[in-house]
Amino acid sequence: MPQPAQTIVDNFHRVQERIARAAEQAGRDASEVQLIAVTKYVDAELTEALLNAGANPLGESRPQQLWEKAKCPTLRTAKWHLIGHLQRNKVRRTVPMVELIHSVDSRRLMKAIDEAASEGGKRSRVLLEVNTSGDAAKHGLTADELQEFASQLADFPRVEVCGLMTMAARDGGTSVASRNFATLRELRDQLADDLPAGTTLSELSMGMSHDFEEAIREGATLVRIGSLLTAGID
Ligand SMILES: *Cc1c(COP(=O)(O)O)cnc(C)c1O
Repeated sequence: MPQPAQTIVDNFHRVQERIARAAEQAGRDASEVQLIAVTKYVDAELTEALLNAGANPLGESRPQQLWEKAKCPTLRTAKWHLIGHLQRNKVRRTVPMVELIHSVDSRRLMKAIDEAASEGGKRSRVLLEVNTSGDAAKHGLTADELQEFASQLADFPRVEVCGLMTMAARDGGTSVASRNFATLRELRDQLADDLPAGTTLSELSMGMSHDFEEAIREGATLVRIGSLLTAGID
């Protein structure tokens, strides 16, 4: 294997070990935490190296980049997660390609996904993105918006809402990140009574390269890791 491909595969295995260790230290089973290998920093060739090493699902934050990779024959077996912002004009093209959209943050976007799913004849799986850091530059619903939205989920029968997603504050260090993650978990627990029958928000997508261990301690079921995988590659 050429050297960058070897490096990314080694990094992937190291991240898997760290996830397993963090889960164990939190008294959780490692199988409860799924790694989303974020491939937005690398080309199709290095993405293929990751996929062949067992990294799946893969995450992209920009719809166009996801589309590009999703049509690569070498990446046919990849299951794609869209982790970044989705504009409504990109919904119809994106919905059939992805297993999970992490970033639903408005009714209008939800409605567009519901319509696209209806055309495709199958339910779309999504997470609701919540702004737990109070950072105005971040996407995501406020706690109040989330509560209102959660009571309206029956309006979107073609969308299965599987859980919540957040990004922690960037500058506060790990203690602030931990608090943001705990907030997401608490919001999820508080919503339990307001959900339509059959909906359980079992997934918590939280934790990135520099804070995934804190996220696992706070109950993450999906961690989205990119830059740790490319460490040592220019
Ligand atoms: C890029 C990105 C990640 C991965 O971040 P790293 O710090 O590189 O691990 C996770 N989530 C979202 C939404 C992203 O855009």
